[in-house]
Amino acid sequence: MAFFRKKKEIPVGLWMKCPACGKMAFTKTVEEKLNCCPECDHHLKVNGPTRVKQLLDEGSFEILGDDLTPKDILRFKDEHSYEDKLKKTAAKSGVSEACTAGRGTIDGHPVTIAALDFTFRGGSMGVVVGERIALAADDAYERRAPLIVVATSGGARMQEGALSLMQMAKTSATIARLREKSIPYIVILADPCTGGVSASFAAQGDVTLAEPGALIGFAGPRVIQNTIKTSLPEGFQRAEFLLDKGYVDRIVNRRELKQELATLLEFLAPKGKPEAVAATPEAESPEDEPAEAAS
Ligand SMILES: [Zn+2]
Repeated sequence: MAFFRKKKEIPVGLWMKCPACGKMAFTKTVEEKLNCCPECDHHLKVNGPTRVKQLLDEGSFEILGDDLTPKDILRFKDEHSYEDKLKKTAAKSGVSEACTAGRGTIDGHPVTIAALDFTFRGGSMGVVVGERIALAADDAYERRAPLIVVATSGGARMQEGALSLMQMAKTSATIARLREKSIPYIVILADPCTGGVSASFAAQGDVTLAEPGALIGFAGPRVIQNTIKTSLPEGFQRAEFLLDKGYVDRIVNRRELKQELATLLEFLAPKGKPEAVAATPEAESPEDEPAEAAS
């Protein structure tokens, strides 16, 4: 019967539903708005390559550490083996890990960048994610180029056990070295940034930017609430709350992020003056400091 005509098929991926306001939007329109909802401006999660494309000058990106791929060192298995999960995620996402690192320029300023990817196993930090962050920091150190890290993660990757936790120390130490040469380090916190990542390199920025509404913290609000047995304030652990508390320097809309970085880079590392970054610790003449200051 004509009454029960077959439903018109909508090509997969043509439309998408915003997880915040529930409205439907054209995927193409969402992409044009740099993966923000056209209705409520909710900042959707983006993968590493898209993030790099949104921030860097067109055609300037040169990838680093792409030859490193994750391994199932502990032969971890729950319902499925970790190896299978990695293969599936890689095939679905088209990337080999939850971090895309490399060199490029922003408005002509040379930078090294590492972008975490929440869509790849929750942006969790395993050995290769840690190694790519460290590679990016080493590259920034060698070239004296500002380092930019987009941090979004559920924390350490449990399938890599203690090897995953070790990445916290490794990334923190590699990034701390940038101070020796006064190389600017800018962190962009995106939703969500939690666990081991929030407690290591994501917390070390000279400048800490955050996307609107991003959840930022070590343990999640439910865990904290159940532990301390008290209700938490409104907006707890959101970017706006942390701006108010001084943890975040600025909240920047994704569509203004590239311009914001260009402005910061012009201030911290003006073009053509690679040495004109903030004063080096040596230049501050330590003898002027009272000895008690160190204690
Ligand atoms: Zn929306």
